[in-house]
Parts: sequence; C-alpha cells; structure tokens
Amino acid sequence: MILDGHMHITDVCEDQGDFGPRLKAAGIDGGLVMSLPPPHWSGIPSPPSVAERLDNLFFWADSLPNLYPFFWIHPLEDSAREQVHLAAERGVAGFKVICDSFSAGEPQALEVFREIARMDRPILFHSGILWNGRPSAQYNHPEQFEVLLEVAGLKFSLAHISWPWCDELIAVYGKFLNAYTFRPDLSVEMFIDLTPGTPPIYRTEVLTKLLTAGYDVEHNVIFGTDCRITEYNVEWAQEWIKRDRDIYRSLDLSEQTVEQIFSENLRRFVSVSSDEVEQKIPRPGQLRE
Ligand SMILES: [Zn+2]
Repeated sequence: MILDGHMHITDVCEDQGDFGPRLKAAGIDGGLVMSLPPPHWSGIPSPPSVAERLDNLFFWADSLPNLYPFFWIHPLEDSAREQVHLAAERGVAGFKVICDSFSAGEPQALEVFREIARMDRPILFHSGILWNGRPSAQYNHPEQFEVLLEVAGLKFSLAHISWPWCDELIAVYGKFLNAYTFRPDLSVEMFIDLTPGTPPIYRTEVLTKLLTAGYDVEHNVIFGTDCRITEYNVEWAQEWIKRDRDIYRSLDLSEQTVEQIFSENLRRFVSVSSDEVEQKIPRPGQLRE
C-alpha cells in the first residue's frame, strides 16, 4: 500500500474530475489532503469563511477511502482556537501550519498548538525554504521547532525534510529522541515528511544521511509528493516513488521499513494505526550500539 502524505487542495472546485483514477494510476491508495489556505496566505484563492473551507475539504476527503483531511490554520488569527474546535468536531484528522511570517514559538501560536494536542490531532508544518515570494527562511529552520518540546502530547511533522537544512533537521530529530533521557514523561513525537523539497540530485545524499545517521527514524518518516489533487501528477508521483525505492534498495532497507515509510508511518501519524513503537534513545558518546 502507498499513501501520499502531502497533497494540496488548490482550487475551489465542484467537480472531483479524475482525482480517483489518477491516484490509482500512480499506484496510490489514499493519503493526507490539506485544505485551502486561511485568508492571510496569498497566491491561492480561498473562501474567507472557515465553514466553506471545511466543506470544501470534506468534499474532497470524503470522495475516496483512506483520505485524511488536514485543516490549514493561521495560529495568530483571533479565532484560531475556535477554528481548531470547529474543525475537530467536523472530524479533521489533523492541522496544517505554514510559519510564513511568524515563528512557531510565538506564545499565541503555542497556545493553539496546545489546544490541537489536547484534541489529539497532529500538526504538519512546512519546514525548509518557503516559496512564498517573501523573506521567510528565519521561521522555517528546523531549530525553530525545538520549542514544540513544550507542547505536551503533540505529534508533529516537518515537511520537505526541511530542505536545504536537512542536516539540521536530522540533528533536531535526534534531540527530540534524546529529550526522553531528561524528561521520561515527555510525550512529544516528531515525524519527518519526505516530500520534495529536495531536487533529485540531493535525494540520495539526504535520504542516506537521514536513514543511516544512527537515529531511530524508521517509524517516523513519511512519503509525500506535494501534488495538487485537482491535477494529480501521476508521472511526478511515480518518478519519486521509483527514485526513493532505488535509494532504499541501495541502502538495504528491509521491505518492512519501506512499507512503513510508504504507508504505515502516516497511519500512525494520524492515529489510524495505534501501533506503539519502541524507539532507541540516542545518548552522547554512544550513538551507535
Ligand atoms: Zn506542500
């Protein structure tokens, strides 16, 4: 089974067109669907009303099995906490946040993230260089998300392997794992969304570093494409699936790990699968056993 952990709704559209057949042609069985953006995000026309954006999200997410709807919020909007409740009541699987002009550590944003964690929903954050036409790198470095250590119970994912700051992402991931040695009750879990991001020439290097650095990432890495669901790009998805599979083969990853990356880890992220995983906690001086 292959699930696409990163698909965007980019149009207000009353017609599902050939979304289902295209997904099928790409060999994909479902995945994570993100709503139209909140009003502050320019570039994608979107209805200002939360109800309309939720209606549109479920119009798509209910169209096929195995689709997990994520509602895109701007945590600094006055009504952000209300929106979280409304969306959770409607049944969203999680939330999407892009820190385009604010840092994840803004107190108001953290309060919204705490509310999301209390509602038992995960957050998918953009991370890495952001194509939004404005200066925004300072908000999207992986280290900006260390502050989520203070959001009890949160499951979150950083998209695009944080390209080009992939080394920093791997280090931050190690820090989240190691944090359990200081705080055994910690319940924050970090995931890594492999969506490109990475231009192909970087892919082998980045996946090799991510999967062989010595940190226990096998249960926390999620495949995704960044495709638009109105024109799901079959060739692009197939190309990335093949490229990644070739890299996994060269790294001698087990079939089970590859399967987890392509489907099970997303199911765990959205709590469809409740499999508990035991993770090795890295400690200074003994990264490898
Ligand atoms: Zn995206």
